[in-house]
Amino acid sequence: MPDSEISLYCNVNSESNRFYVPGELRRKIFDNLHNISHPGIRATKALIASRYYWPNQNKDITNWCRACIPCQKSKVHQYTKAPVSQFLPPDARFSHVHLDLIGPLPISGGFRYCLTMVDRFTRWPEAVPLLDAKAETVAIAFMFNWISRFGLPQKVTCDQGGQFESGLFQMLLVSSALELLLFTQVRMEWLNGCTDL
Ligand SMILES: [Zn+2]
Repeated sequence: MPDSEISLYCNVNSESNRFYVPGELRRKIFDNLHNISHPGIRATKALIASRYYWPNQNKDITNWCRACIPCQKSKVHQYTKAPVSQFLPPDARFSHVHLDLIGPLPISGGFRYCLTMVDRFTRWPEAVPLLDAKAETVAIAFMFNWISRFGLPQKVTCDQGGQFESGLFQMLLVSSALELLLFTQVRMEWLNGCTDL
């Protein structure tokens, strides 16, 4: 580097020269680039490889991505399978809501996911765009777009797993709906293969 004793090494095998990153800085580079938007493993590899090089970088990046807590919280790697069960048709409007999460979709206006909410009695549908698929995001969207307008349902059905299994409850509890939840006996049912909506 000009005016410096420090030498920078580059890998010149690709179109653009990629800086060789010494061991102690590799994790820092990963954190800085990956933590911007927590893209998947493949996207993180491409992002880092476009600027930097170190031996076995793909292996390091894969391990770090898999260990990333925000990634683990927001991405579903394995769906829980619940047994097929029977339930009675609802007898009142907005007493039983079916939630579904669609995505990831191509980004539009910053939104990547879509939460659909359908009243099982009237079949009234609502759809809300979401920035991410975190449990908190889903819970907030459900609260502000459905509960605030139609009231707290007695029953909520989702056919997706862990995403909002615990998070939705936690968020609803945190937002002081605890008593309301207990009084109205809201409960989640995890049904797979419920396609009659
Ligand atoms: Zn991440």
